[in-house]
Amino acid sequence: MSTAPAVSTPVLKDTGDAIASLLLGHGLINDRQLKHARRVRGKLAQPKTLLNTMMELEFFSSQQLNSALQGCTQMIRLGDLLVELGDITSMELDIAIRMQGEPAHKGKKVGEILIEQRYIKEPRLIDVLANHLGFLHIEPDFTAIDKVVLTSVTPGQCEQHGFIPVRRQGDAIIVACTDPNNQETLKAAEDLLNHKVILAISSQFALRTALHKFKVSSNSRVIPPTTNDDTAVTRLVDEVLQAAITMKASDIHFEPFSDKLRVRFRYDSMLWLFKDVGNDLAPSLIARLKILSKANIAERRRHQDGKIEYSDPSSGQVIDIRCSFYISVHGEKACLRLLNRRTELLNIEEIGMAPAVLERFKYEALEVPTGVVMITGPTGSGKTTTLYSCVDYLNNDETSIITAEEPVEYVIDGITQCSLNPKIDMTFAETLRHMVRQDPDVIVLGEIRDKESAEAAIQAALTGHKVLTTFHTEDTIGGLLRLMNMNIETFLISSTVVSVLAQRLLRRVCQYCAQPYRPSPLQMQRAGIRGEDLRHANFTQGVGCETCKYTGYHGRISVFELLVLDEKVKEAILSHRASYDIRRISIESSGLITLLEDGLEKASRGMTTIAEVLRTLPRTDKPRSLLEIRRLSRSTDV
Ligand SMILES: [Zn+2]
Repeated sequence: MSTAPAVSTPVLKDTGDAIASLLLGHGLINDRQLKHARRVRGKLAQPKTLLNTMMELEFFSSQQLNSALQGCTQMIRLGDLLVELGDITSMELDIAIRMQGEPAHKGKKVGEILIEQRYIKEPRLIDVLANHLGFLHIEPDFTAIDKVVLTSVTPGQCEQHGFIPVRRQGDAIIVACTDPNNQETLKAAEDLLNHKVILAISSQFALRTALHKFKVSSNSRVIPPTTNDDTAVTRLVDEVLQAAITMKASDIHFEPFSDKLRVRFRYDSMLWLFKDVGNDLAPSLIARLKILSKANIAERRRHQDGKIEYSDPSSGQVIDIRCSFYISVHGEKACLRLLNRRTELLNIEEIGMAPAVLERFKYEALEVPTGVVMITGPTGSGKTTTLYSCVDYLNNDETSIITAEEPVEYVIDGITQCSLNPKIDMTFAETLRHMVRQDPDVIVLGEIRDKESAEAAIQAALTGHKVLTTFHTEDTIGGLLRLMNMNIETFLISSTVVSVLAQRLLRRVCQYCAQPYRPSPLQMQRAGIRGEDLRHANFTQGVGCETCKYTGYHGRISVFELLVLDEKVKEAILSHRASYDIRRISIESSGLITLLEDGLEKASRGMTTIAEVLRTLPRTDKPRSLLEIRRLSRSTDV
């Protein structure tokens, strides 16, 4: 059989072509039926994929389809199949394939990107691979793995290729990975194991957990689970903490029961069982946690708090862990919150900006050596998180960054941070005077509150510094107007402000209970959605489930409006034009995508709902069509 098509293969004109020729080859359809299906499809009012059309015409059963697919997994690209099954749109597949070519996603599989972009949920992807393509579905459990199959590989090799051998089956070895359709993974596994390999599909979490346990077990001898001595407990605590850190868990629960102590991790807002520990270990384990967190070890009748500064041996990073001890009927329960500085600090690529907007923000705002970049929005709009991810982006060995915040919220390595304290007369102006003497490249001012702090920011920019700050206004144009209303000279504004970024947080549709829906005519009218936009949209809403506590929402997404001040916008400010004019000029000349437009685009991809867009976003102008917004949001250098 030929090797699977690589990423570079051009996108087929129709994702259904490969499947159609497969079905022809298997005699499930004939040429006449295929032509008929294409004709029918061409006449449909609601667009449908070729595969779905043929299935609706009942040319073959879904069992027949599956058995045809299962023999030929290498001929069908997973992405095409997902489009044909109606799980993703061809546009989403197109975006995922293009993203694969970007440095930020290098080495990622299309499936991974589709999950990251929330185009598809992991359980559904596993379902397609297992049920349609016939791959074995295994959630590897390290303790159950036949250790003989691990002898010829190291944890490092497994991590590099993203798989773990699980057991022997006949003359082959079953290997779990997240993309069993990948020929490179198959070849690497076969070479390393020197055996025939059957790839099985596993969830990312189960694979990561198993890989971590493999790593730990090969570093330290396996801990005898029932020895009640101190070193065993110390090692167990270390193992749990390190596992939680590598898995990027946010919390660790140590829960006592009558017969065991259960250790669970919260990961991606869900609790996952890490392991059960014998009951006899529980008191010494909790005692060890109390020692580490400097809580009172003798106190066993009251709830307590503590804090651990854990230095992770693998990365050398110091991680703050907040501990809470709670007295339960079966003994003390410990709950640890990992304040991992690196995960709480979002990478600029992860804040949720559309590709084209992110590019402009990086190259035309952040990387411009001087001038003011303002991040604006009401309280709770996520602007502080964005401010810190900007700082993180600019933070490197060649740049000196100094901050004045009220107060410092995240501690970042490599920069100088200061909390303003008005009580001891440590004011903005006073601090700024000292800041500029520290020879900084970038000055971060927590928030512009009044004329004094606004003037301070502009002054710093005029003396050749890059200034990052936040502001409390509705949108980008509102930010400029506020400065003008503070009686700051328009020539100072137009010559120092480089960019204004407005943002909001919207509730994300719960992934566990999302269902497609069609917005009501009233909603469409209020949001400015046209009938034709519906063809390009996959609106979803949560119907309510346990995970989202029956709200239909789980997690949040950010929506942005980026204004980069070009000559025309500057001219409009200088000549004191009305806000309506400045807004129109920004949209027409500087490529501004409004908050409403970004929100609608994200809603059309099922990330949030129209109701949420209407509830939170200002509706000043009628949005452009969905296709136009997508064109503007799309990255230009692909
Ligand atoms: Zn739900």
